[in-house]
Amino acid sequence: MSANPTKPKFYLTTPIYYTNGSPHVGHTYTTIVADTVRRYKRMCGYEVVMTTGTDEHGVNVERAAKKAGIPESEFVARMAEEWRALWDKLGLAADEFIRTTDLEHVRTVQWLFRLCRDAGYVYKGHYTGQYCIFDNAFVTEAKPGDSCPDCGRPTETVTEENYFFKLSAFQKPLLDFYNQHPEFIQPESRRNEIISFVQGGLKDLSITRTTIRWGIPVPGEEPHVFYVWFDALTAYLSAVGGPEHAQRGFWPADVHLVGKDIIRFHAVYWPAFLMAADEELRRLKLPELGLPKQIWAHGWFLIDAAKMSKSKGNVVAPLPIVNVLGMDALRYYLLRETVFGQDGNFSYDALVTRYNGDLANGLGNLASRILSMIQQYQDGVLVGNLSPSDEPPGVQALALRFEQSYREIRESYEGFGFSRSLELIWRLIASTDLFLTTEKPWALGRQNLPAAWQPIGAPASGSEQSKVAHLLYRAAEALRWAAVLAYPVIPDATERIWGLLGEHERLANFRLPDDLTWNQIKSGTRIGKIEPIFPRVDKAEAIERIEAMEQVPQKPGEGPAAATPAATPGQAAPAGATPAIPPATTPAKITIDDFTKVDMRVGQIESAEKVPNADKLLKLMVNIGDEVRQIVAGIATVYEAEKLVGRKVIVVTNLQPRKLRGVESNGMILAGSSGPDGSPVLAGFLEDVPVGSRLK
Ligand SMILES: [Zn+2]
Repeated sequence: MSANPTKPKFYLTTPIYYTNGSPHVGHTYTTIVADTVRRYKRMCGYEVVMTTGTDEHGVNVERAAKKAGIPESEFVARMAEEWRALWDKLGLAADEFIRTTDLEHVRTVQWLFRLCRDAGYVYKGHYTGQYCIFDNAFVTEAKPGDSCPDCGRPTETVTEENYFFKLSAFQKPLLDFYNQHPEFIQPESRRNEIISFVQGGLKDLSITRTTIRWGIPVPGEEPHVFYVWFDALTAYLSAVGGPEHAQRGFWPADVHLVGKDIIRFHAVYWPAFLMAADEELRRLKLPELGLPKQIWAHGWFLIDAAKMSKSKGNVVAPLPIVNVLGMDALRYYLLRETVFGQDGNFSYDALVTRYNGDLANGLGNLASRILSMIQQYQDGVLVGNLSPSDEPPGVQALALRFEQSYREIRESYEGFGFSRSLELIWRLIASTDLFLTTEKPWALGRQNLPAAWQPIGAPASGSEQSKVAHLLYRAAEALRWAAVLAYPVIPDATERIWGLLGEHERLANFRLPDDLTWNQIKSGTRIGKIEPIFPRVDKAEAIERIEAMEQVPQKPGEGPAAATPAATPGQAAPAGATPAIPPATTPAKITIDDFTKVDMRVGQIESAEKVPNADKLLKLMVNIGDEVRQIVAGIATVYEAEKLVGRKVIVVTNLQPRKLRGVESNGMILAGSSGPDGSPVLAGFLEDVPVGSRLK
């Protein structure tokens, strides 16, 4: 894309989505918002670049690739293709799609690191944290004794050498910056949250790892690779030129759109990295990067007013909804139902209600009503033949209503108040409907007309005909403006309405004027062949069809819902963390059949020993009646190995075997947890039970 020097530039980004899973409605929401802003800004005359992409490094990808039995590079290439294909299919293709494995990104991360290091903000140190050996990952914010929030297993204290970024040095510069730029963090509630977080003091940040293999190498410091945020955040810069960003002219970004769970990384870490790099660039007398102008955090979708758990693994895929109701229905619902920035509820019921109520009965019905009358009474030709001073009050009142709302609708778009914009546009749609019902163009011929309706200099015989023509012309103009204003949110339907009204140029290229003006449709314009814009659907049937499609598993590359190597539930999804949305009808309870799938038996411990280099793990040999199983259990802090021999325990026998610290574990021993640190307490029996007997 070549830069256009005559147009102002606007750069916005979605998160760089994490590729250990497939895109769902949560990611789609963020990308829809970005696309809506992009379309709106283009209508305002900006040259816009919207970036999305894929975050392809880290241990979760490493593991998902292993599970899929392919090299990481191949795995991420497939995932990136799946994401890109979905965005294409949904009409949300970005202008720049950046992959964190792209060479220009690798180069940019290494460049930024050198700048930060040369400015004196990077040092080598040791990172000690709680590590989950099953997930091969540090559990940030866990204390010794905590269990892993992802898999529930006990964590271990592990120390490794890391590079640290001196985040602590940026407390004051960041607070000053927030103070000077009150618009930087949106909405207000997030801004307050971030300010008090920074006021509470900043700890230096570990930005490299040696326990991870799949990542961007730290130049000259292998086996160090960059860790999550230094890598992922920099992608926003890589996408528009990296070290050569000045040539493209899109940096600094105007808006980073993020989910509220990742606001801290964007509003604290990212500006600090950039401030550090700028200090070095200033010293080198090179152009500075500057900070992004705004970070906008949106809320989560909730089910029945409860926060969803990422570990549920049951997510809503966008394509089934789009296949049944169309992309505009999903876009409209997500942006209309919830005030941007707040949490919202997601349900198929509300989605279809919005579709039928606002789209089918609202805009869709108005369009077909107006177009059908133009076809019927005007033979499909639009004729505006009255001067404004001759128009009856009804026409002028409707025009005034549009003119008055125009500015507020635009201001709402500017402030990311999509819900408000749509509410106002739909009021205008209702007003236009009422206008038709009141003026009754279909009944004009049978009425005694008021004096104001007498056309200037026209023969009396044609007067009623020309009044009908003019009423319909003004109704068509109202519909045209409704289409223009709703275009950023529902581009497909409004382009079609635009075309039906006889426009040849695409609506996407329409430039919003400062004030709304009338008489833009040329008299004599012929309308297109009428088609339904939003056909009404039967709610129960539509939901049934969407849910049926949700059930169909798809192959990777064929769309969402797809092979989710990362349905590994509950992993923190670093840069892309928009929440998963389970279907509205998630069954909360399991059936007896589900329960009987779990094979639990009474076992007796025959031997126990500590697992080397693991302070919590015991390797147990457990007799379960017909065999002796090797099971690794995280109970060493509470139970001494010798004292366990002969003890009867409850064993889940039909779990997939897995390795813990290289030791195979073939089953699981049930335990409760007690005390503030969640110490394990083995489950057992008060009466004697024979070894091998099944629990039911
Ligand atoms: Zn874990």
